[in-house]
Amino acid sequence: MKLQMVDLHGQYLKIKDEVDAGIRQVIETSAFINGPQVKVFTDNLAAYAGAKYVIPCANGTDALQIALMALGLKPGDEVIVPAFTYVASAEVIGLLGLTPVMVDVDYATFNVTVDNLEKALSAKTKAIIPVHLFGQSCDMEPIMRFAEKHGLYVVEDNAQAIGAVYTFSDGTKKHTGTMGHIGCTSFFPSKNLGCYGDGGAIFTNDDVLAERLRMIANHGQQVKYHHKVIGCNSRLDTIQSVVLNAKLQHLDEYCRARYEAAQYYSSHLKSVSGIVVPEELPASTHVYHQYTLKVLDGKRDALKQYLAEAGIPSMVYYPLPLQKQEAFQHITRAAESLEVAEQLAGSVLSLPIHTELTAAEQDLVIDRIKNFFK
Ligand SMILES: *Cc1c(COP(=O)(O)O)cnc(C)c1O
Repeated sequence: MKLQMVDLHGQYLKIKDEVDAGIRQVIETSAFINGPQVKVFTDNLAAYAGAKYVIPCANGTDALQIALMALGLKPGDEVIVPAFTYVASAEVIGLLGLTPVMVDVDYATFNVTVDNLEKALSAKTKAIIPVHLFGQSCDMEPIMRFAEKHGLYVVEDNAQAIGAVYTFSDGTKKHTGTMGHIGCTSFFPSKNLGCYGDGGAIFTNDDVLAERLRMIANHGQQVKYHHKVIGCNSRLDTIQSVVLNAKLQHLDEYCRARYEAAQYYSSHLKSVSGIVVPEELPASTHVYHQYTLKVLDGKRDALKQYLAEAGIPSMVYYPLPLQKQEAFQHITRAAESLEVAEQLAGSVLSLPIHTELTAAEQDLVIDRIKNFFK
């Protein structure tokens, strides 16, 4: 069996009976769109995360777009986004005629901090998109305080951290995606809660926003054929809801398996000079969507090649920070130097991590990395 970045088939085999029976039932009843299983899943997800509303949609990018549409922003309004993230977080800002303002991130956690945000603030700033990159929460308490002080909306990009929990200084615990005004997630197959196709969801505790989000995702209508606003068509299929509902029951287990695999890597790799293992923010649990090393001294690509020669896959998330992307050259305003984002893009390397990873497989990776630096 070949070592893989993720092992979706191995994970499927453990829930096969439930998934197969559920999919068959959807086919037998032909309730492919808006079947009752969609609401069962979103209700369960809302209860799991402690969110008042979960609005399903077609993918994580749509979730972000619909979230921004619901805020009623105007062209020229600025939305702050980290420069080191997947493109979707910033793409939707540009798509809506808003101005993405890119900020640098923290070297240790890969995430934006309130210091980064402060440098980007202008009279036009209307919203912030903190991205909980690689599976741990941004430090949300100061970020929420900052947003409140300046009257900004917070839209969390939680595509990579579903299941992570953040603890506030008064002891309150909240799931990522439920701390801002709106939280967005993706059910892309390789995400920590992934379906067997595309899917996404939007979280909010706000009654008015919930109604708007639902309306926008449904062609801007609340009453069929009566369209109040320009919306879009973004739905979660019934079949995907069945898969997600089966996997949701195991999500905490999945998070734990990833966390344990990460601890195993770190315990063996932390003493290797030439790499930096992931750092954990004390206030957040880490669900390790990615296990990402920083490879020092410009050796990242050589290490990647050396691993590949032994059949070990690894990935660079992300090789080009947003400020270097051609698509953003003419619409962005960079608030500060983005050197950490640039440094990370040149040094990050993500190792295989998933719910089915064995210690023997990890030993292969660990030995090969140690050999490289010997
Ligand atoms: C995956 C991802 C998205 C987009 O999700 P899709 O379902 O692929 O549209 C957005 N933001 C981040 C950080 C992601 O990792």
